[in-house]
Amino acid sequence: MKTETEILHVPYPVADPHGALNMPVYHSVAYEFDTAEQMELAFTGKSPEHVYSRITNPTVQYFEQRVKAASGAAEVISFNSGMAAIANALVAVGRAGGNIVTSPHLFGNTFSLIAYTLAEFGVEPRFCDLTNPAEVERLVDENTCAVFLEVITNPQMEVVDLKALSEICHRAGTPLVADTTVIPFTAFRAAEFGVDVEVVSSTKYISGGATSLGGLLLDHDTFDWRQSAKLRPLVGQFPVSAFSAKVRREIHRNLGACMTPYVAQMQINGLETLELRYQRATRTCRDLAGRVAGLEGVVSVNYPGLPGHPCHDVSLAQFGEFPGAMFTFDLASREACFRLINRLQVIRRATNLFDNKTLAIHPASTIFGTFTEDTRRQMDVHQETIRLSVGLEAADDLFADLARAIG
Ligand SMILES: *Cc1c(COP(=O)(O)O)cnc(C)c1O
Repeated sequence: MKTETEILHVPYPVADPHGALNMPVYHSVAYEFDTAEQMELAFTGKSPEHVYSRITNPTVQYFEQRVKAASGAAEVISFNSGMAAIANALVAVGRAGGNIVTSPHLFGNTFSLIAYTLAEFGVEPRFCDLTNPAEVERLVDENTCAVFLEVITNPQMEVVDLKALSEICHRAGTPLVADTTVIPFTAFRAAEFGVDVEVVSSTKYISGGATSLGGLLLDHDTFDWRQSAKLRPLVGQFPVSAFSAKVRREIHRNLGACMTPYVAQMQINGLETLELRYQRATRTCRDLAGRVAGLEGVVSVNYPGLPGHPCHDVSLAQFGEFPGAMFTFDLASREACFRLINRLQVIRRATNLFDNKTLAIHPASTIFGTFTEDTRRQMDVHQETIRLSVGLEAADDLFADLARAIG
């Protein structure tokens, strides 16, 4: 079956007693057993029953199974936010004395996690230009725990050639971990481009219109974890990878950032319309990006789906003609950006990506507002840039709003 069919018809692991067609919200902390022997089996992982909802929950588990069907991943683990998924993945691979090779072009909290939080535990951050293979090769060594990137960075809109980068990683025995939030797995098969582990903020496209926070970790079981000093002892002991086992059995439980059942149900519903919403929003996005470029006062438009963008070819090869529903554009000054944002009547002033409503924000003064000017410069976040997350409105209405606001 094709993904759009399969995504709707994943069977329940256990038949619902009432034949519920929509997965019920199992809001229970604990689960009861008939005998002490059954308890022992379940608690030691020898039988599949749920024991405690921080560890597994029927609604959350079903959400993970739906994502597995939709993405083709070998293992899917959910979290209560995208940041939790990223933190769990990096804590699972990272160790004191090790390093993470990445770009300074990162989501603000991910940058802070790697540059400050993990660094304080002895995991050295190594920032570089991931589009420059020579630089990556110079920095990756036997202590590199992972190479981490975002498939389209924001607000820089940079796209790395994943196949080329993954070859460097795999030659060096390092896993490639990618944040694929901006291109959902229904539209982009990351494993085919050499990505070993995906992390996703399901808050964005998947939640179905900004209904809830959530995160996902997708393990494609493509990396040979015998090459990881930390995970080598676990290799061969678990049905999927040593990495998934480390996350599922240790880090996820110990950090406690589990998805809740109510959120899982909302996100199951979001998954059902994901591909439809994605197609609509990305087509509107490309149309709008092209038209905004022609407005007087717009200095430049940054969307890899437009011919002429420095990453257009690699983006086309990886993500197709419509690479996500987010673009940025530059005006002459920060003041011009503020003026435009303040005049918007249809487009909403808010952060977040891939709400059903179109959202505008000035990244330098908001998402990156607490970083120093130096750090912002290192991250290529400019005062002249506005970011637009395109929703499901008619393109004409969005364009008219922008043209009026800039006029
Ligand atoms: C939003 C976002 C995150 C963080 O996700 P939360 O669900 O807000 O924790 C991480 N990476 C990218 C690319 C994002 O857009």
